[in-house]
Amino acid sequence: MQLPEIDDLLARTHIVTLPLVTRFRGVDAREAAIIRGTHAWSEFSPFLEYGDTEAASWLRAAIEFGFDSTLRRRSDGDIWVNATVPAVAPSALDSVLARFDGCRTVKIKVAERGQSLADDVARVEGVRERLGADARLRIDANGGWTVDQAVDALRALSRSDLEYAEQPCCTTAELVQLRGRLSTEGIEVAIAADESIRKAEDPLEVARLGAADVVVVKMQPLGGIRRATDIVRAAGLPATVSSALDSSVGIAMGAQLVAALPAPRHDAGLGTASLLADDVVAEPLRPRAGRIPLTPVTVDEGALERLASPAARQEWWHDRIRRCHALLAAFG
Ligand SMILES: [Mg+2]
Repeated sequence: MQLPEIDDLLARTHIVTLPLVTRFRGVDAREAAIIRGTHAWSEFSPFLEYGDTEAASWLRAAIEFGFDSTLRRRSDGDIWVNATVPAVAPSALDSVLARFDGCRTVKIKVAERGQSLADDVARVEGVRERLGADARLRIDANGGWTVDQAVDALRALSRSDLEYAEQPCCTTAELVQLRGRLSTEGIEVAIAADESIRKAEDPLEVARLGAADVVVVKMQPLGGIRRATDIVRAAGLPATVSSALDSSVGIAMGAQLVAALPAPRHDAGLGTASLLADDVVAEPLRPRAGRIPLTPVTVDEGALERLASPAARQEWWHDRIRRCHALLAAFG
């Protein structure tokens, strides 16, 4: 892959701070670099605590999307996305679901610290009651259960007919063990791996060990559309594309990965622009009738100014981009 010169790259980069509707990962704002590529706007937004080696894959994805003239970018059609329900009480479900217009798939947070299985059951049943038998419900435990807890929880929750359970336990080894227990006990629920997949090798490992039925993939950590597509094909498992709470620019990149993947394609975790209180485009990619369009996004110059990060944060990001660019130049 051809890298742009670092000075050119930095001259095209805007560092922004995006306010969130609610706190997420303990923060109420998300910092991102928005890059005016030669072929498309792109985003570089690894979380602040990530080291350079990990962040370099994210930069690779941003450069491929923004600068690679041979990358196929679809501009027609749309993709389905899922609604996301945090660990709220059933009384809050109507207002949460109202943010996601027409979504036929809902991801529901379970195994929240300080809550009980009864809370999870009430939330999942509450969504099922509201959306009816045709809705696809998936749960996400973010690795919050032991194997024993997961067996008990999935026995109860699978009565609500789940599309899959995402990362019920923390480690890949536990997921393998859990799938064995579920099959012995006759509990029918598919398992998806999310946190188990952070690096390019991970989906192959998950597939090889039989740890999951579905892999959750994000295009920035996996190094771009081509690499992510190759990895999903090699893993041979159906994939759900998701975002890491990106701006609408990052969401648009994820949508192009969805369009590039082989079928069957699960509805994507790309409805998250609804969680941002402000965005860098005039028309944020929030779901309408359950979908977001594949048309290229146009970044709003006024928004880049309004959301510009303080000078010290810009400097921090520029240094990070320099270091990651040097890693890519040395190792590809
Ligand atoms: Mg997840």
